[in-house]
Amino acid sequence: MTGIENVIILGSGCAGLTAAVYAARANLNPLLVEGSSPGGQLALTTEVENYPGFPEGIQGPELMERMKKQAARFGTRFVAGDVTRIDVKARPFTVEVEDKSYQARSLIVATGANAKYIGLPSERALVGHGVSACATCDAFFFKGKEVVVVGGGDTAMEEATFLTKFASQVTVVHRRDALRASKIMQERARANPKIAWVWNSAVVEIKDPAKKQVTSVRLKDLVTGAERDFPCQGIFVAIGHEPSTSFLKGQVELDQKGYLVLKKGTQTSVEGVFGCGDIHDIRYKQAVTAAGWGCMAAIDCERYLEEHRE
Ligand code: NAP
Repeated sequence: MTGIENVIILGSGCAGLTAAVYAARANLNPLLVEGSSPGGQLALTTEVENYPGFPEGIQGPELMERMKKQAARFGTRFVAGDVTRIDVKARPFTVEVEDKSYQARSLIVATGANAKYIGLPSERALVGHGVSACATCDAFFFKGKEVVVVGGGDTAMEEATFLTKFASQVTVVHRRDALRASKIMQERARANPKIAWVWNSAVVEIKDPAKKQVTSVRLKDLVTGAERDFPCQGIFVAIGHEPSTSFLKGQVELDQKGYLVLKKGTQTSVEGVFGCGDIHDIRYKQAVTAAGWGCMAAIDCERYLEEHRE
């Protein structure tokens, strides 16, 4: 057990690291718990072309390394490992990181969300090389190409519709014969002549990991069991996201899907606990918006600490 921290930041993606830059520059001497996937979702991507300030684009891992350096420059201290438990029912708050325990007057929770993937080895091998879970990030790379979108919810409709601005053909592959998406999003997608549909089907393999590019997907008809190869150069997996909030259950308010509920600005249901980034954001999910929320959380936290000085 160490002394009582002003603030512990949980998460090292865009939201957490931006919160750290602001908290450190406000002399709060923040401690940041990096989690088991340092750098968050961007550390797993390749080219990032829509983060302002990088007109030539930047590799995701490099962008996150730069953010970490910037946070460290102003005195952020980093702890490796995952948060295993928090207790915000008593003050100071307790944060357990594997076998270590820390105490803090305030917390900024920025543990993010992860896109769900189908779970195929070939899919994992081709993430960033034709397999993507974010059309806003990657559609641009598929100009004039044929792509597949997997999923039948609002995200799949949104991604498919957006992709038609770049791709020559977009084929939505859905595991049932009815969409889950809202009526308006369905209608928009169905009316788009560039979108084709494959119903009752699953992607069971993606080719070709040996070539480090997508050349086709293997589709299985879930009614007949028949399989066939479907040529394409990209696949967008749009089957939902999962927030990393299991350690928050019973401590702060979460919505039905496990996303963090914010009450006022970045304030959660517990005073002194702030949240930012994809952990609460199901709408924008962008690096730059996560960074913006990280900045807001640090400012809210600084004001809270100022008002609650012992
Ligand atoms: P979602 O509503 O949970 O839909 C996920 C889709 O993926 C479903 O069609 C599901 O199939 C399919 N799926 C799930 N796991 C699968 C798997 N392993 N293999 C193949 N298919 C799989 O998720 P979402 O579309 O990301 O939407 C999440 C929330 O955000 C929703 O509340 C949505 O309304 C909201 N949203 C709103 C907007 C907007 O309003 N602009 C945009 C995006 C998202 P089944 O249908 O068979 O379950």
